[in-house]
Amino acid sequence: MDEREKRLAQNEALFREVNERIKSTADGLGTVDDFEYFCECANADCTFQITLTGAEYESIRSDPTQFVVLPLHFTPEVETLVSESKAYWIVRKTGAAGEYVEKLDPRSRQ
Ligand SMILES: [Zn+2]
Repeated sequence: MDEREKRLAQNEALFREVNERIKSTADGLGTVDDFEYFCECANADCTFQITLTGAEYESIRSDPTQFVVLPLHFTPEVETLVSESKAYWIVRKTGAAGEYVEKLDPRSRQ
């Protein structure tokens, strides 16, 4: 993993961290419906939001190497595409970057 790849992985992990707080707020409110999360793409300047149900969010989070991004917010050099839908895409980090983001996962740290 080179410096650029590491930086891109850090950007994604940072937005995941923010989304985890959003999720706990949603849980605290007893929200089961749609909630706004941030796009977890590699671009640090991206602050677009994605609407997800609690179940959609949890299924993405069940794999510590997966991130949710807006359609086309995908960086093929540093991740692989897992699935595409109209509202969002799911990407996965592999190899050293995958291990790195797994270590940064707040759920893996607990
Ligand atoms: Zn984005």
